[in-house]
Amino acid sequence: MAKSIIDLKALTIELAHAALVRGDFTAAELAQAYLDEIAEKNKDINAYLEVFDDVLEQATKAQSLVKPENMLAGIPIAIKDNILIKGRRVGSASKILEGYVAPYDATAIKKLRDAGVVFLGRVNMDEFAMGGSTENSAYGVTRNPHDVSRVAGGSSGGSAAAVSMNGALAALGSDTGGSVRQPASYCGVVGFKPTYGSISRHGLMAMGSSLDVIGTITKTVRDSRILFDAMKGKDSFDSTSIDIPAVNSQKKPIIGVPRSFLTGDGIDPAVIKSFDESLKRLAGLGYEIKDIELPNIKYSLAVYYVIMPAEVSTNLSRFDGVKFGAKVEGKDLLEDYLLTRASGFGREARRRIMLGTYVLSSGYYDAYYNKANSVRELIKNDFVKAFELVDVIVTPTAPSPAFRVGEKVSDPVAMYLEDIFTVPANLVGIPALSVPAGSVEIDGKNLPIGVQFSAKQGAEDLLLGVTEVFLGEIK
Ligand code: GLN
Repeated sequence: MAKSIIDLKALTIELAHAALVRGDFTAAELAQAYLDEIAEKNKDINAYLEVFDDVLEQATKAQSLVKPENMLAGIPIAIKDNILIKGRRVGSASKILEGYVAPYDATAIKKLRDAGVVFLGRVNMDEFAMGGSTENSAYGVTRNPHDVSRVAGGSSGGSAAAVSMNGALAALGSDTGGSVRQPASYCGVVGFKPTYGSISRHGLMAMGSSLDVIGTITKTVRDSRILFDAMKGKDSFDSTSIDIPAVNSQKKPIIGVPRSFLTGDGIDPAVIKSFDESLKRLAGLGYEIKDIELPNIKYSLAVYYVIMPAEVSTNLSRFDGVKFGAKVEGKDLLEDYLLTRASGFGREARRRIMLGTYVLSSGYYDAYYNKANSVRELIKNDFVKAFELVDVIVTPTAPSPAFRVGEKVSDPVAMYLEDIFTVPANLVGIPALSVPAGSVEIDGKNLPIGVQFSAKQGAEDLLLGVTEVFLGEIK
């Protein structure tokens, strides 16, 4: 019934909210429409690891909250498998967490629940958010709805694919080095990574604690703003969380382009072309565009692939079979640990744990971890200086459109290079988002390409404002 009357393709949070308030359909009819769509498409895409069994009950409950002032009441969204929903299975797409049930709600989830959001299910990801293609999931790859022979990106590939296939109005992901923005770029949707600390990390499984942030995947920038406003704010459960002050600026933002960073060999010509068109569009919208220098940004990937594994090796040490998830019994405690971790973690998780343990080991700590932290400071300073001259920085989101499933699995360095444009924002802690900026036709399929905008810490209002104008959502 519902499916025939609701055009999910055209729907956004904003439009669904207005329709719910008008009574065009009920929250339960909307939820049913998504359940039907998921039932039809998920077998080919594998975005969802689980569709919850109480979706319609949640929707019926949310109906009483539907009011003009409650933007999110009755809005169905998908949740990445590393964000805790009380009483639900959660596993970071890892075998080591098989059977684990979340004992509490993440702060972001609690806020959305109170706002009347309907949680459709948990979506696929690279194991513990490590990867850029969702091929590192223990539960199979997520495919790109624009071309199922290609990846959806990662690590929040399930989140991006779910929104792109019209299997959710929006989704939550996490972003440590680009995991919300890169899959959004591959799947033709909006991926927003806010300022570090602006959304509590309480109840988000930790990957790299100094880099992690919960982000949103939506169809419009406006929808990202709605979700961000509902989730942001200081939280006593996360000492790194902060309030984002409201900033009101009347002047037209100036756009910066780090030209010398965009001339590397590995960038696909279609990405360059789309990027140039985006700059033209910005100029046409009356923005002043300036070239800027970020002299140390070229070291970002190297710095990230030292700091991140160091934090990963520390954070994943808690998974030893004692407290969480699966356990393999050995002859003594040490063997329990070894067997549990060897069989529970996939290849990429083990690779990063080993790398991280190495860079933190005595004798190497100064040479790698400390050095990387010093260079991180230099990169931060470059951005501070750049933001004295410009308000927003644009780059491509990823150096290529979605690649084929299997294309990069045996070459981790090629996979890591996909993160070149996204990791700087995590190292620096600034907000960044990817918005659709055209597509390229390959083998008869239209593959989306994204463009990334970033601004200084706490400048989400300005950043979202510029991108709303860029996408024509506001004039
Ligand atoms: N692709 C990056 C990595 O593999 C980013 C991961 C993330 O943001 N969670 O580390």
